[in-house]
Amino acid sequence: MQYEAVIGLEVHCQVKTQSKMFCGCANRFGAEPNTLTCPVCLGYPGSLPVANAEAVRKIVAAGLMCGCTISKFSKFDRKNYFYPDMPKNYQITQFDLPFCLGGQIPVGGKGFSGQPLPEKKIGITRIHMEEDVAKLTHLGKASAVDYNRAGVPLMEIVSEPDMRTPDEAYAYLTALKQVLEYAGISECDMEKGQMRCDVNVSVRPLGRAEFGTKIEIKNLNSFRSVHRSLCHEIPRQIEAVEAGEKLRQETRRWDDALGVTIVMRVKEHAHDYRYFPEPDLMPVTHTDEQIEKIRATLPEVPFVRRDRFVTEYGITPYDAHVLTLEKPLADYYEAAARGSANPKQVANWIITELLRVLGERGLTIRECPVTPAHMAELAGLVGGGTITGSVAKSTVFPAMLESGRAPSEIVKEKGLEQVNDDSAIEGFVTQAIAANPKAVEEYRAGKAASIQFLVGQVMKLSRGKANPQAALPLLKKQLDAG
Ligand code: ADP
Ligand code: MG
Ligand code: ZN
Repeated sequence: MQYEAVIGLEVHCQVKTQSKMFCGCANRFGAEPNTLTCPVCLGYPGSLPVANAEAVRKIVAAGLMCGCTISKFSKFDRKNYFYPDMPKNYQITQFDLPFCLGGQIPVGGKGFSGQPLPEKKIGITRIHMEEDVAKLTHLGKASAVDYNRAGVPLMEIVSEPDMRTPDEAYAYLTALKQVLEYAGISECDMEKGQMRCDVNVSVRPLGRAEFGTKIEIKNLNSFRSVHRSLCHEIPRQIEAVEAGEKLRQETRRWDDALGVTIVMRVKEHAHDYRYFPEPDLMPVTHTDEQIEKIRATLPEVPFVRRDRFVTEYGITPYDAHVLTLEKPLADYYEAAARGSANPKQVANWIITELLRVLGERGLTIRECPVTPAHMAELAGLVGGGTITGSVAKSTVFPAMLESGRAPSEIVKEKGLEQVNDDSAIEGFVTQAIAANPKAVEEYRAGKAASIQFLVGQVMKLSRGKANPQAALPLLKKQLDAG
């Protein structure tokens, strides 16, 4: 029998704000433990929370970026439980009236494992606000608590069970991160715990409408480990079902070193968190006008921008995908491509040359020594035949990187203009033929490819400046005549 997996993700993202969700303590990573605290985020009795308007605005912004409906009326609720990471013994969250409902994120292109990924929209059930909890560090028999993280604004983004493969889950996470980074809502740095993900997965025979028993996987600290854990968990569930086992609803932990999921606890009955409306906070209302005001501050959604790049600049969907992965890069490309006669070549230069060099030097696009205008000018010089592609690559572009100067200046100063003049190129052709009797012989013996070698020699003799299109017929003429 054939099976398919059903996957739904619950993603927690810290919201980038100046201060914490309900107090004035700084929302900052990496400070000395327990230096960013106050009676509110330490849960002292009698302290009163005040909702952070910037955090609320950013969660609404996240909803708008994902096409959600923003609630006109929402409220905060208490989720009651005991754990040392939560000194109040309850967490302020949102239960039945979250800020955002019903959005979607498109995925597609090429999957993480290299297979093509069909275009598809992954539904978002809801986005609600929570406060983050303290960080526990286990030291042998004791544990240490750092409350700096307690009360940091967090949003939980719950997806519909719409994903079917590990690649789709990976693509969804990548797209979500991209959207949140674009709008400056979260830095989404998983290493700093700013983005955390729980995976829900079940399997069912292909064609069956009902879902199978859901298993939740925790402790996933990278998109890669989400992918790996699914590649392990899906076949494990299928095997169990095939063997006639009845799966239980349970929570498992991903062990990255062993590459397996391990049972943590079995969900016997739903937790009773005794949710009730938070009495110390007012409900939050949003008018259409307020929502539109927030919408007006948002950047273009990355996948909309990607599709626009394809139609507006005529580049391939893959190039558009690469160029829109991060907003600063998309801004860079657009600044170069707008008004350029060669937007496709500009894309090529950025993807094949610029990104390679930046990668080698560990620089971000923001630190790029070449301005977008100079990048466009370089593509224009090649496209318009002023210099050859080979001179651009070997000489002009490296000089631009070193000096930050305009390519036209470099070309003029070093005399790098392409040689189109037949008589000048003929001189190089004669030299190339004289210096390479073996290739000439091979060509005449019928090995057509040898002429490409000779074109290469002409380019070399001209230090890359000869127009290769002009060199080819001149070479043929001399060879066939001789
Ligand atoms: P719970 O009440 O256990 O938290 P929810 O209904 O809130 O469950 O769903 C949590 C997540 O699990 C959501 O992302 C949802 O899409 C996903 N999910 C729900 N049912 C299934 C299932 N049978 N298989 C896989 N994922 C599921
Ligand atoms: Mg849930
Ligand atoms: Zn505080």
